[in-house]
Amino acid sequence: MPGAESHFTHRAQWLRAAVLGANDGIISTASLIVGVAAAEGSREAVLTAAFAGLTAGAMSMAAGEFVSVSSQADSEAADIERERKALKEHLRDELRELAQIYVDRGLKSDLAREVAKQLMKKDALTAHARDELGFVEGEGAKPILAAGASAVAFSLGAALPTLAAMLAPQAWMVYAVSSASLVLLAALGAVGAHLGGAPMTKPAVRVAFWGALAMAVTAGIGALVGHAV
Ligand SMILES: [Zn+2]
Repeated sequence: MPGAESHFTHRAQWLRAAVLGANDGIISTASLIVGVAAAEGSREAVLTAAFAGLTAGAMSMAAGEFVSVSSQADSEAADIERERKALKEHLRDELRELAQIYVDRGLKSDLAREVAKQLMKKDALTAHARDELGFVEGEGAKPILAAGASAVAFSLGAALPTLAAMLAPQAWMVYAVSSASLVLLAALGAVGAHLGGAPMTKPAVRVAFWGALAMAVTAGIGALVGHAV
């Protein structure tokens, strides 16, 4: 069932975007917190950096996602427009083309031609958009939605290490934030993999490893800069 598969892929795409956004939020904010704390910043300085990082990150995720999904929407619209023009100018070729698609999917050529004819009689553009271009109605690229979703995912991820920084005693802040973040990253990696139908251990270990590396590098740089300024 190609329909069910593409639905699964579609859901997996959304999930991947949400999980990636949350990952980004956790890693960048936790690194920021660890970096400022390692530079011997006060809790106020750490929290200011965390909130600024959360806001900046959410905005940049939203802007990046908006631009990328907009250009996807533009190219989908251009494809539809080309198809509309082709249907107007070369109707017979378009009928043959659609029938051939059904032949390739397993129909006998007489039946394929009949199916193509009847579908095109009802709504030629929709039939071509769906079966030739692979567009599903209502599932086109939505820039605003995608931008909002990734900003929310990033903010939710970023809120967790920020919360840990608010709650942990000053002396333990670096350890509390980094260990809480690594546990969250690993859990998120495992859940994301599971929902996407993949084994869980590898992605959990991978994301925790890169997260730990990001925090260690930022902490090192924070400590260097903290001593230099
Ligand atoms: Zn066509």
